[in-house]
Amino acid sequence: MRIDKLLANMGYGSRKDVKLLLKQGAVQVDGQPVKDAKRHVKPETEVVTVFGEAVDYKPFVYLMMNKPEGVVSATEDQVETTVLELIDPSYAHYELFPVGRLDKDTTGLLLLTNDGAFNHALMSPRKHVDKVYVAEIDGEMTVDDVRRFAEGVELEDGYTTKPARLEVISRNGRRSMIRLTLSEGKYHQVKRMVAAVGKHVERLERIQIGTLELDPTLERGAYRELTQEEYDALL
Ligand code: URA
Repeated sequence: MRIDKLLANMGYGSRKDVKLLLKQGAVQVDGQPVKDAKRHVKPETEVVTVFGEAVDYKPFVYLMMNKPEGVVSATEDQVETTVLELIDPSYAHYELFPVGRLDKDTTGLLLLTNDGAFNHALMSPRKHVDKVYVAEIDGEMTVDDVRRFAEGVELEDGYTTKPARLEVISRNGRRSMIRLTLSEGKYHQVKRMVAAVGKHVERLERIQIGTLELDPTLERGAYRELTQEEYDALL
């Protein structure tokens, strides 16, 4: 990455400000002064300092977002607003992507990272990381549904789901609130499982991935970096 871009992204001012810093000789790469704004650096391996202070460059970033409704879990979209558009431009150089997908109308816990191995560890079907959802259902979820989900239900395309834990939190007339723990992540899985037992998901929120619970202090659309403890517990 160009040194002027790196420093601007890291909050050392605009590209113009950074050019000035470089001109002043304030910037060094591996102990050598660098004045050329176009100079490419590898911040993962080269030590960049500004006025003798090392630039705190992290190769990987892990964000927890409380995804709002109406945005898509993609890095780019011609029509829709993406979750990436909710992230501050200072993260742009990390080239973040969402870890798995939530539907446009699903809210709640979404991770974003630029670490492919982290993504794989959480999303690979072989790793069986549980994802926990709460949903409002149009229809009465029954004890029989609990049994059927525990055994695996056949979806409309013939796929039989892995055993899932369904808890009926409350029922009020035709409305049910459920909590559902899945160990896999097929396309529209919650909605399709609920449809397979003849009911309809009205609202869906993901509240947990593995050990990581959605931070209740995060407003919809807000995000924060994972703590080291959260990261360690996840993997
Ligand atoms: N299952 C769904 O149906 N939708 C989601 O967004 C996530 C899981």
